[in-house]
Amino acid sequence: MTPPLRVLVVGAGVGGLALAQALVAAGGVDVRIAERNPDAAVWLDGYRLNINPDGSRALHRCLPTPLWEAFVATSATPPGGISFRTEQLRELFTLTREDMTGGSPDPADGQYGVSRRVLRTLLLTGLEDHVQFGAEFERYTVAADGTITAHFADGSPLEADVLVGADGANSRVRAQYLPDAERVPADAGGIAAQVPLTEETRGWLPAVLCDGMTLVMPKSGPASMFTSAFPGRDALMSAIAAGVGLAGRGLDEDGLLDDTDDYVLWSVITDHRVLPDGAVDGPGLQALALDMVRGWDPALRRLITESDPGSVRVMRFRHSRLVEPWISTTATVLGDAVHNMPPVGGLGANSALRDAAALADQIVAVRDGAPLVPAIAAYEAQMRDWGYRAIRESVENARRATTAGPLARRMGRAYFRARGLGRHLPRRGARSRTPAAPVTARTTV
Ligand SMILES: Cc1cc2nc3c(=O)[nH]c(=O)nc-3n(C[C@H](O)[C@H](O)[C@H](O)COP(=O)(O)OP(=O)(O)OC[C@H]3O[C@@H](n4cnc5c(N)ncnc54)[C@H](O)[C@@H]3O)c2cc1C
Repeated sequence: MTPPLRVLVVGAGVGGLALAQALVAAGGVDVRIAERNPDAAVWLDGYRLNINPDGSRALHRCLPTPLWEAFVATSATPPGGISFRTEQLRELFTLTREDMTGGSPDPADGQYGVSRRVLRTLLLTGLEDHVQFGAEFERYTVAADGTITAHFADGSPLEADVLVGADGANSRVRAQYLPDAERVPADAGGIAAQVPLTEETRGWLPAVLCDGMTLVMPKSGPASMFTSAFPGRDALMSAIAAGVGLAGRGLDEDGLLDDTDDYVLWSVITDHRVLPDGAVDGPGLQALALDMVRGWDPALRRLITESDPGSVRVMRFRHSRLVEPWISTTATVLGDAVHNMPPVGGLGANSALRDAAALADQIVAVRDGAPLVPAIAAYEAQMRDWGYRAIRESVENARRATTAGPLARRMGRAYFRARGLGRHLPRRGARSRTPAAPVTARTTV
C-alpha cells in the first residue's frame, strides 16, 4: 500500500488550521501542523474578524458540520450592514446585510463577526493529535525527488511531501520560497482601540454605532474613522441558552465566555507620517486620535475618550509585494504569508480561508492520483487571483481613507457599485466614476 501523502503546515493560524481541518476530514493524508507558540493559550491579540461571504463559504468547505454549526451559532452578527457617514454622522449611503450577502438564505453565504479566540478554538478542535506547539520553523531543504525536510529551532528535522507556509505576515517559508514577495510599507496606518458595549455605553452611543459597521468619511482632512460593533459575548450566551451544545463539540463554554466581550472597536485611519515613531502611551495616542477628529460628532469623539487606554494601539500598514507568477514546487504558501495587506476592508483572513479551501481541494485530488506539482500550481494561480486582488483593494481602501472629501466619497460609491454591492445605494447626484487605477504588479505603494 502506498503511504499517505505527508503534508506539513507551518503555522496554526486561521488559514493553516482551516486547511488542516479540511484535510483531516478528507482522510488519507498525513497532516502535521508546526506552531511556534508554546501552547494553545497563546493567541495573537486582536479584534474580532469580519468573515465575508467568500470567507464563509471557504470555512463551510473546510469545517466538519458540527464545528461549522458551532461557528454560525456563536458568531455575532449585528443587524446593521455598513453605513457610510459624514463626520457629523449624516448618512451618505448604507450597504445592508442583504447587499453584503446577496440576499442568500444559505448560512454558508453569510456575513459574520467572530472573536479570534472563538474562531481559533473552533479551528483547533479535533486537531490536537496533529498540532505540535513550540515548533519554530527555521528553513527547509528540498531533495531531488521533491521531498522536503523542514528544520526547526530545536534542531529537529521533519520530512514531508508538501510544505505549506501558513506562518503569517513575517513568513520564513515565504522568505525562502519567494524572497521577492516581501512586505513593504503602505502610506497609511491607524490608531485603534475598543469601548465596552454595555447598558451605559448603549445609553450615549447612537444606534448606528451599536448595530453594525460605520465608515466615517469627512468632507476634508486626511483621516477617516471605522467603527464596528461586536456583541460577541451576547452571541455566545445566546448560543449556550439555545442549547447549541458547544461542550459536546469540544468547546469549553466557560473558557470562551471568560475571553469574549461585547465592544465597539474604532480605528482612525490616516497618513502614516502623522503616526508617532517612538513609544507613546494609551492616553497619548487617544489625544492624537482626538486631534485628528476635531469638530466631528461628539459621539465619535467620546468613543475615543472612553476607550480603555490599555487597548489603544498604533497600526502601521504594510502589504506584500506583488510578484510575477513563479515556478511551483512541493513547497507553497497561503494567507498573510504571501498576501498580507492593510486591514482596511477586512479581507486578509477571508483570503486566507479561500486559500485553505482551494489548496485542500488540490491536495485531495493528489491523494486520489493527480500529480503533485501541477496541483500546487493550479492552487497558486487561484490564490494569486484573489489574494492579489485583495491586496489592491485594501491598499486602495487605505488610500481612499486618507484622501477624504467629496471626490473620494464619490469614488467610494462608484467603487461599491462596480463591485455589485449596494444595488440600492441612493444616487444623490453623484455621477458614476471609474475607481482609481489599481495597484499594478510590483508596485510598492
Ligand atoms: C487590526 C486588524 C484587523 C483585522 N480584521 C480583519 C477582518 O475583519 N477580516 C479579515 O478577513 N481579516 C482581518 N485582518 C487580517 C487577518 O487577521 C489576517 O489576514 C489573518 O489572520 C491571516 O491568517 P494566516 O493564517 O495567514 O496567518 P495568522 O493567523 O497570522 O497565523 C500565522 C501563524 O503562524 C505562526 N508562526 C509564525 N511564524 C512561525 C514559525 N517560524 N514557525 C511556526 N509557526 C509560526 C504564528 O504563531 C501564527 O499562529 C485584520 C488584521 C488586523 C491587524
